[in-house]
Amino acid sequence: MAKILIVDDSRTSRKILKGILEGAGCEVIGEATNGQEGYERYVELKPDIVTMDITMPVLDGIEALKKIKAEYPEAKVIMVTAAGQKTKMVEAVQNGANEFVSKPFEPEQLKTIIEKVMNG
Ligand SMILES: [Mg+2]
Repeated sequence: MAKILIVDDSRTSRKILKGILEGAGCEVIGEATNGQEGYERYVELKPDIVTMDITMPVLDGIEALKKIKAEYPEAKVIMVTAAGQKTKMVEAVQNGANEFVSKPFEPEQLKTIIEKVMNG
């Protein structure tokens, strides 16, 4: 069972994501509302997977990804993207993002990606 940290500034997105992940048999071990908090939770909790929103206050998802990967290159980070974020996606790939899921979430797509990241 994958232990997951959800990083997203939207309460609604966190709630939807948590529901889908738990429905897929994952354990959501923590949530964070911005990139800085996400980085701190990562260090504290060492989740198997992080779902990382891109647009967030304080520290965005790209900067949080960089911070996590700089210290923990083995970290598995799935970036959560919205429409019109092609440039950010390229930047995320360059900084070691493992996978992408797009909003609005599709449960089956999300499950497939979680399995892929866990097995790869
Ligand atoms: Mg956001």
